[in-house]
Amino acid sequence: KIEVRGLTKKFGSGTAVGNVSFVVNEGELLGLLGPSGSGKTTVLRLIAGLEVPTSGDIFIDGKRVNDLTVQERNIGFVFQHYALFKHLTVFDNIAFGLKIKKWNRHDIEQRVLELLALMSLDGLGSRYPHQLSGGQRQRVAIARALAPRPSVLLMDEPFGAVDAKVRQELREWLIRLHTDLNVTSLFVTHDQEEAMEVSGRIIVFSKGKLEQAGSPADVYEEPATEFVARFIGSMN
Ligand code: ATP
Repeated sequence: KIEVRGLTKKFGSGTAVGNVSFVVNEGELLGLLGPSGSGKTTVLRLIAGLEVPTSGDIFIDGKRVNDLTVQERNIGFVFQHYALFKHLTVFDNIAFGLKIKKWNRHDIEQRVLELLALMSLDGLGSRYPHQLSGGQRQRVAIARALAPRPSVLLMDEPFGAVDAKVRQELREWLIRLHTDLNVTSLFVTHDQEEAMEVSGRIIVFSKGKLEQAGSPADVYEEPATEFVARFIGSMN
């Protein structure tokens, strides 16, 4: 469970995130939707502890993120543009975090094989990232984030770097994955349709403010503000 309370982040005189509060419930897949520059990436980076809040608090499973070391946070992060290690095989990419955590070789091998199967990447362990399709690369990135069994999975535009057809496959695939694993997950997108299709609940951002939180149907049928109505497309 992620709890965000009164979160504010200023860069110089600009406010990237202004007094935002929301909760991602245990096992929920929440979509954070908003236009470019609305503060979505900053929120993810704050939750991951990669940025320090100007004010406000973030709790993961009841513990304040900024009191924990990176290791203790136990967060999986999927970046916008794969960010796979080019010089490492698929196997070693997925194993990366497990080696840092000093898992033994046998456990690492078991876990990586399990994830390759789960992600429909069987037999691709010895390939290098450039020998994969865009969709496969993105699945490796998700496998790598999931490998150490994180308590929370954060994804920044996880489908941003692939074409429309692969994007659709990945969406369906993320829904299935989430149903299977039930990891508490937060993903960022600027794409209304994507947020509506994939998420159990969405939160809508504009200019660093939370405009509305609710089920896709609620947000679509009863937009709380004119911005939400226009952005979701329920009013033109
Ligand atoms: P995009 O989808 O384009 O990445 P976003 O919704 O993720 O947009 P952020 O990247 O969080 O938005 O940026 C929110 C605001 O904060 C923007 O005005 C951005 O210029 C500013 N910002 C983000 N990071 C920094 C930084 N390190 N230094 C200064 N300003 C920043």
